[in-house]
Amino acid sequence: FGHIFRRSRGLYITAEDRGRIANILKNWPTRDVAVIVVTDGERILGLGDLGAHGMGIPIGKLSLYTACAGIDPARCLPIMLDLGTENETLLRDELYTGLVRHRLRGQAYDELVEEFVTGVEHLFPGVLIQFEDFATDNAFGLLAKYRDRTCVFNDDIQGTAAVTLAGLHSAGRITGRPLAEQRILLFGAGEAGCGIAGLVTSAMRALGLTEAVARGRCWLFDSKGLVVKARESLKPRKRAFAGEHPPIADLLEAVAALRPTALIGASGQPKTFTEPVLRAMAALNQRPIIFALSNPTSQSECTAEEAYAWTEGRAIFASGSPFSPVEVAGSTVVPGQANNAYIFPGVGLGVVASGARYVSDELFTVAANALAQMTEDRYLHAGTIFPPLTRIREVSHGIATAVAAKAFDSGLAVGKRPDDLSAHVRSMMYEPAYPVYT
Ligand code: NAD
Repeated sequence: FGHIFRRSRGLYITAEDRGRIANILKNWPTRDVAVIVVTDGERILGLGDLGAHGMGIPIGKLSLYTACAGIDPARCLPIMLDLGTENETLLRDELYTGLVRHRLRGQAYDELVEEFVTGVEHLFPGVLIQFEDFATDNAFGLLAKYRDRTCVFNDDIQGTAAVTLAGLHSAGRITGRPLAEQRILLFGAGEAGCGIAGLVTSAMRALGLTEAVARGRCWLFDSKGLVVKARESLKPRKRAFAGEHPPIADLLEAVAALRPTALIGASGQPKTFTEPVLRAMAALNQRPIIFALSNPTSQSECTAEEAYAWTEGRAIFASGSPFSPVEVAGSTVVPGQANNAYIFPGVGLGVVASGARYVSDELFTVAANALAQMTEDRYLHAGTIFPPLTRIREVSHGIATAVAAKAFDSGLAVGKRPDDLSAHVRSMMYEPAYPVYT
């Protein structure tokens, strides 16, 4: 992205702009902004710290808002917080377009982000802010700080959680075992893993389980092994899910001990769902749920072929990156892709259409339910637990309508609820077509 840079898009705010961020935001040619996607480029998917070159991500995500959910591109604002980089290659690269310095940290970082959010609240009141590709501690910290104050969410945490929850609902229709009866082992306890654990347990609570029982159904496993209470110095976000169990360092042993119905990989570690692990899942479950979410394909915990081969074709498989169809016992199975693009554009459209002031977890639970409901039986029969991406605009419209309804019902949205919410949402969808004059 940096080396093919031709023209600037979006807004860049740098570590040197303290005290005048609102003035920079005023440079944007319109105040009619619906969605901002902002990153500091520290942890770009599969690529790491790209500094200012991470701007490709807000631009790309906003393109998906337009393509998938019809958010008017003129109302989309990509923002890069260029606060330095630890990427030595970029720091030495004379074509690097960003600030040549190590990253701003600590209080100075927090103050700059605070000035940014305050400026946005003032100049673009009601705008939806999506935090994207921040390093794990900043991602959780910023979400916790701002989620009850302004209209923000983090797609890496909450969007991932919702698409996974939708997958679990749909898989439950195949296994005949609804979400409340599933036992889930999350391999990887970062933004994705902790986000999934949080949303899945809140969905389980909504189904009538107590907090303690719901948490007991969701286990985390990270680079140090099973996340258990006995572990010292656990981050609060992991401690919340630490179970009462002796330490286990090996995934196969954890599978044998916990007997999960679903094994979900969000570790970034390829080939970790080994043949013994998948065979153990298949021995425990008639239809083992195996989600290998790590991206890109080369990082996937297992391939689609491995998931089917090592479970005698019985796995209900979904991945983060796309896999080609696989022949299983004479029929063709199309592996589902747990793509966040199923969720965040629709949630964004629902928030914009309702004027919701905050983005609650409930909106993501509703989005997950809506996505699962739109996954028709014919797709489940073909082994795919998500609808085809070719139907994404219809899916986003359905999610947005459900999210907007929830926003009105739960008091998140101010103003009068339109009589025909579905038509209202559709009327807000930008169509890339010129009017035909006759
Ligand atoms: P993260 O860096 O926040 O978390 C990674 C986690 O994996 C950490 O808890 C770490 O301890 C754990 N881990 C590392 N090595 C391990 C090992 N050997 N064994 C067990 N655990 C190990 O990253 P993240 O944002 O949570 O993303 C994780 C992966 O999930 C990435 O590959 C990303 O591409 C993928 N992801 C997929 C989707 C999707 O499919 N929709 C969405 C978001 C993220």
